[in-house]
Amino acid sequence: MPNDRHDLIVIGAGSGGVAAARRAAAHGAKVLIAEADRVGGTCVIRGCVPKKLMMYAAEFARTLHEADGFGWSEVGGRFEMHRWADAKAAEIARLEGVYRKLLADSGVALVAGRAMLNGGGGVRIGDRLCHAPRVLVATGGAPAFDAFAGLDTAMTSNEVLELRRVPPTLLVIGGGYVACEFASILAGLGARVTLAFRDTLPLRGFDADLRRRLAQALERRGVVLAGGVAMRALQRDEHGFELQRTDGSVLRAAAALNATGRRPNTAGMGLESLGVRLDARGAVEVDADSRSSVPGLWAIGDVTHRVNLTPVAIAEGRAFADTEFGRRPTRVDHRTVASAVFTDPPLATVGLTEDDAVARGPVDVYESEFRPMKTAFAGGAERTYMKLVVDGLDERVLGVHMIGADAPEIVQSLAVALTCGATKRDFDRTIAVHPTAAEEFVLMREPVRRHGHAARESAV
Ligand code: NDP
Repeated sequence: MPNDRHDLIVIGAGSGGVAAARRAAAHGAKVLIAEADRVGGTCVIRGCVPKKLMMYAAEFARTLHEADGFGWSEVGGRFEMHRWADAKAAEIARLEGVYRKLLADSGVALVAGRAMLNGGGGVRIGDRLCHAPRVLVATGGAPAFDAFAGLDTAMTSNEVLELRRVPPTLLVIGGGYVACEFASILAGLGARVTLAFRDTLPLRGFDADLRRRLAQALERRGVVLAGGVAMRALQRDEHGFELQRTDGSVLRAAAALNATGRRPNTAGMGLESLGVRLDARGAVEVDADSRSSVPGLWAIGDVTHRVNLTPVAIAEGRAFADTEFGRRPTRVDHRTVASAVFTDPPLATVGLTEDDAVARGPVDVYESEFRPMKTAFAGGAERTYMKLVVDGLDERVLGVHMIGADAPEIVQSLAVALTCGATKRDFDRTIAVHPTAAEEFVLMREPVRRHGHAARESAV
C-alpha cells in the first residue's frame, strides 16, 4: 500500500491540470494527478490540436488551387481522409506520450481512473483512497446535448475528429467557435455544408465587422448559411438527419454535427455532496484565486466556465500553484484574452469590440481592407480586413480585430502591445515590416469612424 498522502491532488490531466501539477511539483510539492481518459485532455486529444491538423488538411485544397495561378501545372489530387486519420492518431499518441513524460520528469504521480471526492481532502481513485490538504478540480467540459430534442443523435466535435471519410453533406448546428471551424474545414475537404444558427450572423460576441465578413467568406467557400431561425428538433432516420426549425422549415443532410456549446464536467464526482457551490450551468463557482466555496478545494479551466480557452486554463493552473506552493501570489487577468477562430480565412481578436468600446465612451475606429498579395496574384477574390478600436480620449488601443490569412499569428503579437497599454501613437511610430499583411496595422492614418466625440464636445 503506497503512502497515499500528497500535498496536492489534481483531478484531470488536461492542459490546465497538467500545468498546475507540474508547477506545484517544481515548487517542491508532492503531487498526484488522476485522469479517467487519455492524458492531454480536450485540447490535445479531441480539440485544438487534432482540429488544427484537420484545418491544415483542408487548406491544401485552396493551396493546390492557387498553385495554378503561380505557374504550377497539373497540380491536383484526392483527399483520402483515412490516411489523414491514421497520421493524426499517430501524432496525438506521440503528443500524449510527451505529456506523460513531462509529468514523469516533473515527479508528478499519474493515476489512471475516475476520481471521487470523499471530503476532508480524501479522493478515491478506483480502490485507492488518497489524501491531500489541497485538491484541484480540472476536469474540463464536454459537448452539451440539451438545447433541443434529438441532438444526442448527431456527432459532436469528438466524433468529427475521428471521421475516416468526408460526409457528402453535413449539417452543422450552432454558430460558435466549434460550428464555424468545422463548417469551414469540412467544406474545404469537400463536404456540402449547411450551417444552421439562430442569430442573424455566426459568432455572437465577436466584432460585427468580423462576423459579417466571416459569413461572406463561408459562403464563398460554398457553405450554405441558414441563420436567423431558432431550432426545434433534430431527427435521424435511414436517410440521414432532419433539422426542424421554428418557422416550419426543415434542413436535411447525410451527417450532422451538434455544436451547440459545452458543459462543465462536474457530475458524478461528489461535488454536490461536499456542498461545493455550482452555478446554473453546473460550473464550479470560484473566486479570483480559483478557490471553490469549500476550503481545500480549488478549480481551474473549463470546469469553472470563466474564459474557456486552453491558455487560460494553463494560466489559472500556474497561478494557483504559484500562489499556494510558490509563495508568489498570482492572479489571471481575464479581461484581455486574445482568441482565434480557425476558419478559412481565420479570424482573431483581442480586446473590446467596436460596439462594446462605444458603450464606454468616445472611440476612433481605424480600418484596412485589401486583397492580400498572394490571393490577388492567383486571381482570388478573398479580402483581408483589419480594425483598430482606439480610445477617443487617451488614444489607447482597446481592440484589435482581423480576418484574413495569418490573423491568429498577427493578433497574438499585437496582444502584447495591448497588454502593455499601447496607444495609437505607438502603433504609428512602429516601422513596418514590408511586404507583409501585418504592416497594415501600423499604417492606418485616419479614423474611418469617430464615435461619441460630438456628445462630449457639446457637453463641454
Ligand atoms: P459556443 O458557446 O462558442 O457556441 C455555442 C453555439 O451554440 C452558439 O452559436 C449558440 O447560439 C448555439 N446554441 C446554443 N443553444 C442553442 C439552441 N438552443 N438553439 C440553437 N443554437 C444554440 O460553444 P462551442 O461549443 O462552439 O465552443 C465552446 C468553447 O470552446 C468556446 O466558447 C471557446 O471558448 C472554446 N473553443 C475555442 C476554440 C478556439 O479557441 N479556436 C475552438 C473551439 C472551442 P447563440 O450564439 O445564438 O447563443
